Amino acid sequence: MIEHCRYASPSGWNAIARRPASHTRLHADVTASFVVVGAGYAGLAAARDLAERFPDDKILLLDAGRPGEGSSGRNSGFMIDLPFAKISASSDPAQRDWQTRLLGYGRRALREAVDAAGIRCDWRDIGHYKAATTVGGSRKLAALAGTLDAHGVEYRMLTPDDIRRELGTSHYTAAIWLRHCALVQPAELVHGLLAALPGNVQACFETPVTDLRRTQMYELCAGGHRVKARCVLLCVNTDLPGFGYAKYRQLTAYTYAGLTRELTAAESSRLGDGPDWGVTPVERLEATSRKVSGNRLMLRVGFSYRHELEPRRVRAALTASLMARYPGLPPDAFEHAWGGAVSLTRNDAPILRQLADGLYAVSGCNASGILKMTALGHLLAELACGTHSPLLGETLVFSRPSFIPPDPIRRLAVGMQMQRFQRELIGDRA
Ligand SMILES: Cc1cc2nc3c(=O)[nH]c(=O)nc-3n(C[C@H](O)[C@H](O)[C@H](O)COP(=O)(O)OP(=O)(O)OC[C@H]3O[C@@H](n4cnc5c(N)ncnc54)[C@H](O)[C@@H]3O)c2cc1C
Repeated sequence: MIEHCRYASPSGWNAIARRPASHTRLHADVTASFVVVGAGYAGLAAARDLAERFPDDKILLLDAGRPGEGSSGRNSGFMIDLPFAKISASSDPAQRDWQTRLLGYGRRALREAVDAAGIRCDWRDIGHYKAATTVGGSRKLAALAGTLDAHGVEYRMLTPDDIRRELGTSHYTAAIWLRHCALVQPAELVHGLLAALPGNVQACFETPVTDLRRTQMYELCAGGHRVKARCVLLCVNTDLPGFGYAKYRQLTAYTYAGLTRELTAAESSRLGDGPDWGVTPVERLEATSRKVSGNRLMLRVGFSYRHELEPRRVRAALTASLMARYPGLPPDAFEHAWGGAVSLTRNDAPILRQLADGLYAVSGCNASGILKMTALGHLLAELACGTHSPLLGETLVFSRPSFIPPDPIRRLAVGMQMQRFQRELIGDRA
């Protein structure tokens, strides 16, 4: 029996989404040309792509949860299309150039889908801040500025006064602003993409795939019904090992987010000048933050390996992070708090593979998947159709995640890595 990820709390973005897409379960046995399992960014892109290539074929899109309740509706909504801006940026120029092309492709595909269907998801082309809270972090930021200079990428260095005025906090020791990012309401994006799928896609939610086997065709058990297809695309992120693949190539981590209630005018004026902004940290264990639609604050905090933390601990971490940044706001300001699962690979490489004849998979989002998994979903559809673009060829070369040993070695290694990041953070503050 194939298991799927279940969360302790619903997504706050989904709770405040203005136009949630209606959804149904699978009600009967069905045969389709293609089955896409997983309706996150990867699955939505793959289903859309296949439907446009084969307008006379039936594409079945299955998801275990409700729309917008997977990681794709739980994230912080940063669409950063510049790999240099990542803390874990690859030092290999060929890999970075490929990542730039991949992210650019993902961004264009999403933008086109959003424009074509008029999806209202608060897409904001406003760039983002990269900020440091420690002496070591400031050094990393200076090194990043050097890399941006070397590549002719435009950015703005903030003074402490700028930081206080624009972000309303003295928590950061240094910050730069970069154009290369758009912000989005992630759950509204998922709902919009879902509603815009071509008519030959049948999307079914709360329909977990619990069995997959090959006879003459693929046969799946989904929500208690029998599904047959000649081709299956697995876009299930952290759940891929549950299908028997990539067990030693990816691991599951959880990260956490919270959204405040709508703040009063006086409270939101404490969050700096602009109506919307987003900050990502240079220190790996620091929080991501966003001012959303002028009157809410979103924070993303912390990581845990394999298991989701209890909601009580998530709220405590969010409150501590809020108080460090905005001590003038009430500590109980969070209306929503939730966790989300991400698939991590050891060398940051994604998984994009043909697993068997007619069976394909994509995974390894490495915690930043809005643009990447959209691009990889399209490329997976391309792979399944046997058409090979140069970007697909390149992506297959770079989609080779390294071996990850099983537990207990895996657990020990993750624990040691977390301790190293913690020591870095503490040491860098000294
Ligand atoms: C708190 C948080 C903050 C993040 N912030 C950002 C950010 O700012 N920017 C960014 O780019 N990324 C961010 N990410 C990462 C991003 O959300 C993921 O990379 C992205 O959602 C992965 O998309 P996906 O389509 O691969 O997987 P998912 O969105 O996880 O979709 C997989 C789907 O498969 C379904 N599924 C699994 N098993 C089965 C089964 N057996 N049967 C049927 N369906 C199944 C699941 O229900 C799920 O809906 C963040 C993640 C989290 C948790």
